Amino acid sequence: MISEKMAQRLNDQINLEFFSSYTYLSMAAYFKTQGLNGFAHWMLHQADEERAHGMKFFEYLYDQDRSAVLQAIKQPHTTFASALAVFEETLSHEKHVTASIVELMSLALEEKDHATRILLDWFINEQVEEEAAARDIRDRLKLVKDNAMGILLIDRELAART
Ligand code: MG
Repeated sequence: MISEKMAQRLNDQINLEFFSSYTYLSMAAYFKTQGLNGFAHWMLHQADEERAHGMKFFEYLYDQDRSAVLQAIKQPHTTFASALAVFEETLSHEKHVTASIVELMSLALEEKDHATRILLDWFINEQVEEEAAARDIRDRLKLVKDNAMGILLIDRELAART
């Protein structure tokens, strides 16, 4: 069984993962209004992934004889200035999530909670990939600036995400 404190922190992390999912769903909605269906597709996929992250912690709490206590999900931003602004926000949000996972890892090490540490190893690696993916798209959007052809080219590429 994990500590009470760890169970609380994991519940907070469930909320952050679901907030991430909600954020990306809101970004998908924005892209749909812009006619950028490839970007919307990418964000819908991302929203599903974040929900799955939340569910990993949800299931883990029961594996450790603890319970999930769901908290209110904050409203995500609903308007964005541009595709670039969306990916700047995505990158900074993922950095925030990484910091949260690192804090959980520090607590697991402090408590000699090796089971949770091993669970968190996966998330530490996942965050490297999340940040890299957001940075890659952000950098290409910076290159194309307001060029519609450039944005449509990236849109077509993002439509292929599976
Ligand atoms: Mg996540």
